[in-house]
Amino acid sequence: MLLLLPTSDPRAATATESPSAEPPPPQITHLSLPFSGVWGVIQGFESGDTHVGYAAYALDFVPAQPAGTRAPRRGAALNRFVCYGRPVLAPADGTVVVAHGGARDWPAYTKGLDQGNYVILEHAPGEYTEFRHLAARSVTVHVGDHLRRGEVVGRCGNSGNATTPHLHIGFLSSIDPITTRLMTLSGYEVMNVDGTWHRGDGTPRKGEILRPFAD
Ligand SMILES: [Zn+2]
Repeated sequence: MLLLLPTSDPRAATATESPSAEPPPPQITHLSLPFSGVWGVIQGFESGDTHVGYAAYALDFVPAQPAGTRAPRRGAALNRFVCYGRPVLAPADGTVVVAHGGARDWPAYTKGLDQGNYVILEHAPGEYTEFRHLAARSVTVHVGDHLRRGEVVGRCGNSGNATTPHLHIGFLSSIDPITTRLMTLSGYEVMNVDGTWHRGDGTPRKGEILRPFAD
């Protein structure tokens, strides 16, 4: 079955995938993909004009759709986007250290001017993940909550500076100040052009179609 990514973020058009010059500290946490099912990477590390600076080590995902699927038009309701409302899952056990849930969703193709709804989890000292653009009223976790891997953090939305609904996951070594760090994911596979799958190498890249290992 052919799959493609329905909407390409125009900001991702200049993506480059250059490796960092700085060796990251050893990573303790085994991070899973923060969703179930088959999704695609629409923006990778150190790319565009959004995965730079304090957000350099971040990934944007949307659910994959059959080839030929067209993105909803300008003015379409957010729930016409396949990503909207999809659950975001904790990629590992962790404690909620930031939970902002009071922001609105912006209309599709409108980039919001606020911070949007977001959650940051601490998995281990110096190992955090953040989830951005969460849907209005979808953040039901609170600071101090302990989540198990696979528990729902929130739902995908179009809050903050998103253009269309997608999931942004960022990798951090510190939240005060926010400091980005390279982290790798495990327990997932990548679709080949013939529809078969191979094990992911830990660093999802723009254009890849991914799924977690079936349990
Ligand atoms: Zn992003």
